[in-house]
Amino acid sequence: MEDIGAGTAQAERQEEWSLSPSRAADFMTCPLLYRFRVIDKLPEPPSAAAARGTLVHAVLERLFDQRPANRNPHAAAELLMPEWDKLVAAEPELAGLFGDEQEREVWLEQARDMLGRYFTLEDPARIEPAHRELEVTTVLSSGLRLRGYIDRLDVSAAGDVRIVDYKTGTAPPEYYEARALFQMRFYALVLWRSGGTVPRLLQLMYLGNGELMRYAPDEADLRATERKIEALWRAIQRARATGDWRPRRSKLCEWCAHQPICPEFGGTPPPLPDSVVPTVPQAQVSTVPEARTSTALEPPVSKASPAMESI
Ligand code: SF4
Repeated sequence: MEDIGAGTAQAERQEEWSLSPSRAADFMTCPLLYRFRVIDKLPEPPSAAAARGTLVHAVLERLFDQRPANRNPHAAAELLMPEWDKLVAAEPELAGLFGDEQEREVWLEQARDMLGRYFTLEDPARIEPAHRELEVTTVLSSGLRLRGYIDRLDVSAAGDVRIVDYKTGTAPPEYYEARALFQMRFYALVLWRSGGTVPRLLQLMYLGNGELMRYAPDEADLRATERKIEALWRAIQRARATGDWRPRRSKLCEWCAHQPICPEFGGTPPPLPDSVVPTVPQAQVSTVPEARTSTALEPPVSKASPAMESI
């Protein structure tokens, strides 16, 4: 019989000793948030926005099970409720997200709108994905393991690779574009280091407002991304050694589930788990330099309006 507890423990260990784009973004946003999620493994209540994102992703994944001619807005709308039922069966607490049926209907309508916007950005009848929800991983020469899930990977007849990521929010203002692309460069780096091919195109699809963001990376970009990730990992290891997981207050605190135990909001974090014992005396903490985690000076990206283009 499968040992589910052992499997979970292994997954948690893997999360602690490898890096995904989400956890890297957590640390860049707020080291204390990273600690709460990865080191303390504190649970977070489900949110309606996150659940809607999961639902829309599930529908878009299943849409490509249909024959090309049948991949239309009606088919996507038809998939919505069955996929929601599957999510609730897997995570029953999702059913409690809504105060009443009317609230749930408004939420579902927003998901329908996002799916409708998807069809203004591309024609899925013209696309045959090579992979959907692809798990990717690689080990850098430093020994750091990178991992993640790619929403969709398209490969053209000529072998060009396009990484596609669906976002259920709106496209970020220009200032935050590089940050949004960090995740895509991260995936591109993993594919390049594991398979030797630099992806031709990175494509973010913002279903909240119907915008595309596209970027063509090159080796120099990916080497810079690798250096940035290595620096980030060293900063994480320094925080682990010193126990200095500093909170970093920002607009994102508004959505943080850990405000009640965050010093920025008058709270007190729990003691660190026994398995994470700082090895650097507190007196030396202030001399430990912070990692450079700025995303400034990244190459520009191209924003595209709705279009039905292949790679
Ligand atoms: S509330 Fe803000 S500062 Fe505190 S842990 Fe969350 S993200 Fe960090």
